[in-house]
Amino acid sequence: MNKLEETRRYMQILNLPWGRDNLAQALERANAKEISYLEFINQLLSEEMTAREQKAEQRRIKAAGFPYLKTVEDFDFGFQRSITRKQVNQLLDMQWIEKAYNLVFLGPPGVGKTHISVAIGLEAAKKGYRVSFVTMEELIRHLQMESVVARSRQKVKKIIKSDLVIIDEIGFLPISRQEANLFFQIISTLYEETSIIVTSNKGFEDWVELMGDPVITTAILDRIAHHSEIFNFTGDSYRLKNRDTILK
Ligand code: ADP
Ligand code: MG
Repeated sequence: MNKLEETRRYMQILNLPWGRDNLAQALERANAKEISYLEFINQLLSEEMTAREQKAEQRRIKAAGFPYLKTVEDFDFGFQRSITRKQVNQLLDMQWIEKAYNLVFLGPPGVGKTHISVAIGLEAAKKGYRVSFVTMEELIRHLQMESVVARSRQKVKKIIKSDLVIIDEIGFLPISRQEANLFFQIISTLYEETSIIVTSNKGFEDWVELMGDPVITTAILDRIAHHSEIFNFTGDSYRLKNRDTILK
């Protein structure tokens, strides 16, 4: 084995994949530019660090389980005026996640609640926060199955360990009192530890009907709303306004 191959093998064993794959080119570049030994090792390790960070970022984004990847840049703030670019920029400093504050996006279907939640969640994941996206339906199912299904148990564990949990579509389906109880328990566990984004097509006043029990509903709302910013999205459905038709 020649020196290059041997060095690449060391890099493989030491878990330096960028170096393993790019050592020859890096050497050529260093020779051409006549950089110092220190400069060479510094550049090599700096590239390795960047590659590692990018990989970790991709892993966090994948682990978040977003339904789609849409960004703040994709969001038309002219169409949805209930939240401003300035407010979102402020949220992107992620101070509210540091304080475990919550965001609530309320409004009818198609107004951008999920889109803006994903966009904020995506930025959080990029900045190094652990994010979990679940629909209310999935969350309730996992909480129900937790004691019998390993996958559900892992999912709940992951949610609890997250820095930000996005619970999408509260209110699409009514839930039973027992389910509301499970939901209360997870909200209590997350309370003041983990930031939550919730989206709902129902106003808070309709949540009692949704969850059956006024006492549990109040307790849930209390914890979600205590440290929170609430946005009431209004307007028309973006889907309907920008619908693709078949015959033009
Ligand atoms: P909902 O409020 O029902 O969660 P979504 O966020 O899923 O609505 O939005 C429905 C679709 O319309 C998505 O494809 C989303 O990207 C798009 N959309 C909604 N609002 C906007 C907006 N203001 N700018 C750009 N796309 C939008
Ligand atoms: Mg939605």
